[in-house]
Amino acid sequence: MREKQLNLSPSPGDEVKTTTCYMCACRCGIKVWLTDGKIRYIQGNPAHPVNQGVLCAKGAAGIMQHYSPARLNKPMLRIGERGSGEFREIEWGEALQLATDWLKPIRERNPDELAFFTGRDQSQALTGWWAQQFGTINYAAHGGFCSVNMAAGGLYTLGGSFWEFGEPDWEHARYFMLWGVAEDHDSNPIKLGLGKLKERGAKIVAVNPVRTGYGAIADEWIGIRPGTDGLFAFALIHELLKADRIDLDYLVRYANAHWLVIRNPGGADDGLFARDADGNPLCWDRNSSAEANAGSIDISPAVVGEFTLVDGRVVVPVFQLIADRYLDPQYAPEKVTERCGVPAGTIRRISRELAEAAFESNLTLPIAWTDAWGREHSEMVGRPVAMHAMRGISAHSNGFHTCRALHLLQLLLGAVDTPGSFRYQPPYPRPIPPVNRPGKTRNEHGVLNAPPLGFVHTPEDLLVDANGQPRRIDHAYSWAYPLAAHGMLHTVIRNAHAGDPYKIDTLLMFMANMSWNSAMNTGETMQWLTDKDAEGHYRIPRIIYSDAYASEMVAYADLVLPDTTYLERHDCMSLLDRPISDADGAADAIRHPVFDPATQATNPAEHPRDVRGFQSVLLDLGARLGLPGMVHADGSPAYRDYADYIVRHERAPGVGLLAGWRGENGTQHGKGAPNPNQLDTYIANNGFWREEIPEHARYFKMANRGYLEWAQRFGFIGGTEPIVLQLYSETLQTFRLAAQGHGALRPPQEHRERVATYFDPLPFWYEPFEGAELSASAKPESPARHSHGGGTSAKRAERPQHGPEGASEASHPWTLPSADEADSNVRMDPSLRSHDGKNDSVTEHFPLSAITQRPMFMYHAWGSQNAWLRQIATRNWLYLHPSTGAKYGIANEDWVDVTSHHATITVQARFANNMQPDTVWSWNAIGKRKGAWKLAKDAPETEKGFLLNHLISDKLPKSDYANADPVTGQAAWFDLRVSIRKADTRDADRESAPQFAPLQFDAADNRPLRYGAGFRRRTPR
Ligand code: SF4
Repeated sequence: MREKQLNLSPSPGDEVKTTTCYMCACRCGIKVWLTDGKIRYIQGNPAHPVNQGVLCAKGAAGIMQHYSPARLNKPMLRIGERGSGEFREIEWGEALQLATDWLKPIRERNPDELAFFTGRDQSQALTGWWAQQFGTINYAAHGGFCSVNMAAGGLYTLGGSFWEFGEPDWEHARYFMLWGVAEDHDSNPIKLGLGKLKERGAKIVAVNPVRTGYGAIADEWIGIRPGTDGLFAFALIHELLKADRIDLDYLVRYANAHWLVIRNPGGADDGLFARDADGNPLCWDRNSSAEANAGSIDISPAVVGEFTLVDGRVVVPVFQLIADRYLDPQYAPEKVTERCGVPAGTIRRISRELAEAAFESNLTLPIAWTDAWGREHSEMVGRPVAMHAMRGISAHSNGFHTCRALHLLQLLLGAVDTPGSFRYQPPYPRPIPPVNRPGKTRNEHGVLNAPPLGFVHTPEDLLVDANGQPRRIDHAYSWAYPLAAHGMLHTVIRNAHAGDPYKIDTLLMFMANMSWNSAMNTGETMQWLTDKDAEGHYRIPRIIYSDAYASEMVAYADLVLPDTTYLERHDCMSLLDRPISDADGAADAIRHPVFDPATQATNPAEHPRDVRGFQSVLLDLGARLGLPGMVHADGSPAYRDYADYIVRHERAPGVGLLAGWRGENGTQHGKGAPNPNQLDTYIANNGFWREEIPEHARYFKMANRGYLEWAQRFGFIGGTEPIVLQLYSETLQTFRLAAQGHGALRPPQEHRERVATYFDPLPFWYEPFEGAELSASAKPESPARHSHGGGTSAKRAERPQHGPEGASEASHPWTLPSADEADSNVRMDPSLRSHDGKNDSVTEHFPLSAITQRPMFMYHAWGSQNAWLRQIATRNWLYLHPSTGAKYGIANEDWVDVTSHHATITVQARFANNMQPDTVWSWNAIGKRKGAWKLAKDAPETEKGFLLNHLISDKLPKSDYANADPVTGQAAWFDLRVSIRKADTRDADRESAPQFAPLQFDAADNRPLRYGAGFRRRTPR
């Protein structure tokens, strides 16, 4: 009998196109297989550096994202009341003319009357530039809502950050701590990396109130109480200092541990670095018993003690201040254990394990390298302790200092960009703080002097008026939120409604579901969007919104500009914005259209979709407005579309959005003239470009001459000076001094105590604001009263040499203050006292923390309307620990009222053991408003699903500040405190509450979205 010939590897389709996934923020390479012009299969691209072929469930379900019934089809103009969802379809010509007519007078009158805010925008290199050319200071993306604390905490300390801009050394780490990480940014690389750690038997410790996602495979789970991670980190630091398990060589070589801080309480220079006439920071050289340039080599700087400079100023090294602060008994494990919910013994053990992994692994790489001072090293000494942190740390009102605390912990272990530790991804590290300051003045052409978002260095960089009041509509870069480097998306709608600090005319938003899952205080936000003044005019006069899908926010727009799906567009993951680099190479990537949207009707009965990529629309609009840079001298558009812009736009001579294949012939990388064939070359190269960092330049990037020269060639940094890591932040101290009455620019009286308190140059922990304000007794005593200078007279002990590695192998016996010697200024943080069992109303009335987790199978509202991903979950539950249920008389699947100081929701509870018992949690963004996303009218997402956002206030309970971090303005939605009680019903048919009037979009599509059956009829090739 003849054997039947089986095709064991049939081609998945007729044609394949490579592009970049956008089912989450990770930016994996994908191969989209097509059959008969339809997507047959999405495959991870094995040639792509981000995911190396790995594809997650979200990525595979991109087919349903592309064919979603919720896709918008045409521009729409509101015809009903705002919020009703009643629109008429219009042509693009009319839509763009309307937008031009609205925006042109604004630009002529006052560009700041346009507030341009984007959501999960991966094109900020364009959108920020567009805002700059328009001349509005009121621009930001969603980082202020997401994780600016993570970015700012890192950039003001390390010149880099976790997020997706750094990574653990997956090849060499032996101890890995994940802090507050759920699955989103850097998703597949973390999965791949965790696999490598598991293979090598490295220990993985997950610190998170809930054990989900990556934490599920951790060797140890620390079920910490939300908002106390900083306290836990300080207890680890306390133990490491006590045990003398600190890498002082590293700290002196790469950080500012030996820089001298002026001790002059009440003086204008108190807490600043002592500098020489040329501005160089000073240290105390033990060899010469004299001050010296702290950047010198072949000196022996003191790290503890108190010294008097020749000019009579009293100074103390940074490390002395660190020892003074964190050796204080308030940070002892037994002092923090109750508040953190982590046993003191566990804290001690983990500190021992960290030290053992860092100092006893004897990891060295036999790679010769030269440091920034020209010293040659025969090997790279490792500290194989890696950390990664994300939103669980960041989205608290104490998140900035907690992020700084984690970086301090890493630095004390010598575990930043050493083999085995956290590693920078190019273009990081950058100078600290990064050199680009926020734009604040307009030139004669109405263009801002810099993009609206940047990094504040001193109070002079703030955007405040002569009276110290905010200049931005979101109050970013004001005295209330000075380092708001990502803007404050979460405050825009309240302030625009209130006209605070002024009225705006038009709110332009892109991909930001601000009336629903991207809002804090959803109820009031919807009301602000629709509220009218006495004359019957909307208080926010005009809203233009661009989205690809019929999200809840679409209903609140006056003009809707329909965006494409991610398979119909050009995009650019640029080194000017959010590249796809890894620690061993710089890389960027593109998306390019797999389909023309005109051919992608939702179903054959419908007319073709008439949608355009938002970035192309923005450039078109810019040209119609005559914005500088977007028109030629004759007024014609400078760019055909976004693809043309990606190729031809130069931010500086030779610097464009893509770094690969530049120069007319495509032979230059990094810098070079525009190459008209650049996109084709990217497409031929799987959609990305990557250049490897030379092997000798891959670690110690902040002070590795090879790396600094390589990075300078690409324009990542301006020079090759070492980047000194900032344990102690002089930037923060300049703000504190201003609050204490020094300098030309000082905060208004009402902000002084706040600025003086929270601009502490060394990280500290304080009770998250919502809980603190709800607690009558938890009025914080200002750590501002802590002199940065301490008061301990430390002995002059042996100090490490600032010389070649190993030169200071002697022990590091800095002098420790005894209890009665301890600085009288360093007091027990009063907020800790409030948790010594005496904290009253917060524990009594709102005894639980409530947080969300990001489902690993969904990415925001996008994913939870996806037909395939909805098969995993169509609703969410309020998860609580069984012991918590028993305590409050709640049974599994009971309906419960969940009450915050702001609102009450009624939802269904489910028991789960994977959580800290004083915390309740739910999946993020699954709940939907009826009528939105073209889900069936009885979709479980709308009936049983819910948002915790309804409970979260955008304001603090008592003070007039935003519910945000006082340093960066980061939205503090993880600070939420609630009470729970059994609701009055067990009715299985009841709906979650609150419910809102159904949106009147086109009739909801109740048909099940079936896809793919037709492919089965085809004979496999
Ligand atoms: S991790 Fe994110 S980008 Fe990567 S395949 Fe999954 S959804 Fe796509």
